[in-house]
Amino acid sequence: SRFGQFGTRSKHIAAGDCVIAYSGPQNMTFITVKAGAVFANSYGRYPHDSIIGVEWGSKHPSATGRGFIHLLWPTPELWTLSLPHRTQILYTPDISFITSFLDLRPGVKMIEAGTGSGSFSHAIARTIAPTGHLYTFEYNADRYEKALVEFQEHGLTELVTLEHRDVCSDGFEQRDLVDAVFLDLPSPWEALEAAKQTFKKHKTGKICCFSPCVEQVLRTTAELQKQGFVEIKMFEVLVRSYDSRKTEVRPLPTRADEEQRRHDIGNKKRKEREAAASSSASDAANPAKKVATEDGSVKVELAEEKVDEAAAAPASVNVSQPQEVRTVREFTGLKPPREATGHTSYLTFATLLPQIYRGSDGEKINDESA
Ligand code: SAM
Repeated sequence: SRFGQFGTRSKHIAAGDCVIAYSGPQNMTFITVKAGAVFANSYGRYPHDSIIGVEWGSKHPSATGRGFIHLLWPTPELWTLSLPHRTQILYTPDISFITSFLDLRPGVKMIEAGTGSGSFSHAIARTIAPTGHLYTFEYNADRYEKALVEFQEHGLTELVTLEHRDVCSDGFEQRDLVDAVFLDLPSPWEALEAAKQTFKKHKTGKICCFSPCVEQVLRTTAELQKQGFVEIKMFEVLVRSYDSRKTEVRPLPTRADEEQRRHDIGNKKRKEREAAASSSASDAANPAKKVATEDGSVKVELAEEKVDEAAAAPASVNVSQPQEVRTVREFTGLKPPREATGHTSYLTFATLLPQIYRGSDGEKINDESA
């Protein structure tokens, strides 16, 4: 597929196509359409024969007409969410970040190790198409075989070369060829010296190592430095949700509102002073009486409290509000789909300068002795 997307480019689904049977963001699966086969889920049965010839993207009824699925084109994003897991996989938030930081684009040649379940490989095939190339390596025989069949079935072999190889012990055969390297291995530091040889000598290269724990990151960064990589940076991709909510917004007070407010506060204080004065006057006129009780103790009867209603009223009644008009405004944040996964590993990036700026192998360019 010169577009780096699997499936045919026809408007209608044909036998042999990979179709995403979509029932919801948490509920999708892929089917490879085959005459005579039947796809069934909890919403019903869908004979493949009824799917052949249907337009991509259709809402498709089950045999009884009670359930339905959407028949979607297998984009790399949907493939990542429905592929058969043979390993841990990379999800779209990490893939997007790596794509951006490794400067991946059409025409790029790159290396990936290991291939695993092919989630990253499928996404990259689309990114680098039509003239780029992905060399991907897997040392587990079973995963290698399965990925090979998938790449063939999805028409990706022009863009993706899969090799069965242990890259930590046997390195890479590619030399002076690639722009970028991505290592998703338990011990990426063991493959760094070999990975360095694969970069184009006259260009700046980028590498990314994907590791779930900081101890691995530390070993990787130490080796990256030793190999003369520069701009070593580590990132963690965290998905943050934003909600959409409604809030009340009051217009700002005008100058007239402000003057009225000050005036009201002045009035209120004056009334409070007057109320205080009249209450102390009435206290004087009506002092507390000491009354002798039968048991010999002394009871103090306080003068009845006089309440100035105006002064005792809540402040908000006295202080005029800015305009009563209230506008309801909707705040819409980005709410990522629930299937978006956050941190799965740390991403360590580094740059390899063109060879003339690198210093000799194994030496740091900014090393004082260099
Ligand atoms: N990036 C893949 C994806 O998105 O589907 C997942 C890769 S998975 C986490 C790591 C893979 O690396 C495993 O399949 C493992 O067999 C393979 N692997 C580990 N060490 C390797 C080595 N030295 N050479 C080649 N493959 C290796």
